[in-house]
Amino acid sequence: MVDERPFLGVLFRCCGVYSRIYRTQDETAYAGRCPRCARPVRVVIDARSGVDVRFLEVY
Ligand SMILES: [Zn+2]
Repeated sequence: MVDERPFLGVLFRCCGVYSRIYRTQDETAYAGRCPRCARPVRVVIDARSGVDVRFLEVY
């Protein structure tokens, strides 16, 4: 079974670290944590624009 969970590339501005966050099970958002300071991040998926955003920065 291939793991193809969609993810977003995120630059965590808090620590200047690039990481990935994965889609939640209900498929309404991407969620994850900064790998350094564990700051939670959640990106709600916009139904109109879909999942076109591949990279973003969080503050
Ligand atoms: Zn951080």
